[in-house]
Amino acid sequence: MKSHVVGIDIGGTKLATVLADKDGNILQKVRKPTESEKGPQHAVQLLLNMVDEVLNLSGLSRENISGIGVSCGGPLDTKTGVVYSPPNLPGWDALPLKDMIESELHIPTVLENDANASALAEARFGGGRGYDYVLYMTMSTGIGGGIVVNGEIYHGANDSAGEVGHQILLPDGPLCGCGKQGCLEALCSGPSIARRAQEAIADQSNTSILKLTGGQINRVRSEHVLQAARNGDALAVALIEETAYYMGWGIANLVNILNPEIVLLGTIAVAAGDLLLNPIRRTVSEMAMQRPSEMAKIMPAELGDSIGDLAAISLVI
Ligand SMILES: [Zn+2]
Repeated sequence: MKSHVVGIDIGGTKLATVLADKDGNILQKVRKPTESEKGPQHAVQLLLNMVDEVLNLSGLSRENISGIGVSCGGPLDTKTGVVYSPPNLPGWDALPLKDMIESELHIPTVLENDANASALAEARFGGGRGYDYVLYMTMSTGIGGGIVVNGEIYHGANDSAGEVGHQILLPDGPLCGCGKQGCLEALCSGPSIARRAQEAIADQSNTSILKLTGGQINRVRSEHVLQAARNGDALAVALIEETAYYMGWGIANLVNILNPEIVLLGTIAVAAGDLLLNPIRRTVSEMAMQRPSEMAKIMPAELGDSIGDLAAISLVI
């Protein structure tokens, strides 16, 4: 009986394979380093072995698996199942990942970019449960996102929808990883918050942020800014307010365009809580149009570290 599903989470540094039942309960998990320097063939072979490993651990066979969901960094084509050179996976150029898995394991396989898969997981299992119009945004090394409407990911014409972090707020602003200037990601990702903090500290060193890094400006990270802001440090509070202003501005644009019921913010927003969320909510209510703004709840994402596992399996449940 096809009673279970398998999820595969492909990251630049680690691979994870999980086995779950049809309700999304994770029953087994195997993790291995990606060893991305050894190339895609090596990583795919590892993944195929890891699928058999989770099956063996649970006493199941390939015949019990109704589908495999694969969450991987984009760009990729969800229709053909081909991965196109994700920045964190060197050598994965036009890799027919879906075909490689299906021809070996003979199990239907669904490929999805990790931000969209995470959005679907939050919509199914996390803070988006019970809502039909869900916008998910993560704030970590980048700002990614996904749009889920009536339980389905909105892909756009060629799987490029949901790039919430690359809306341009400041045309002459800091350089973004995408090559443009002044994107939301170049202002509010973890490294961008750290860079703004380092620049501000260089101008005004009277801040307790530096005490958290032994006085070294180049070691300042977004988590130090958060911690100092919690302790009432004036510069750190100003940096968090500035981050919330840009995030709120970006979210207001999305609220006007997409009219979501709920906007779920991950990672840094979860760690910061209302310290960041309240000024974001205030900015959105000031900047967005009244009707969509009144509809959109802005809340922390709920799945935390389990999101990678649930992202992959949510593609096949
Ligand atoms: Zn960008």
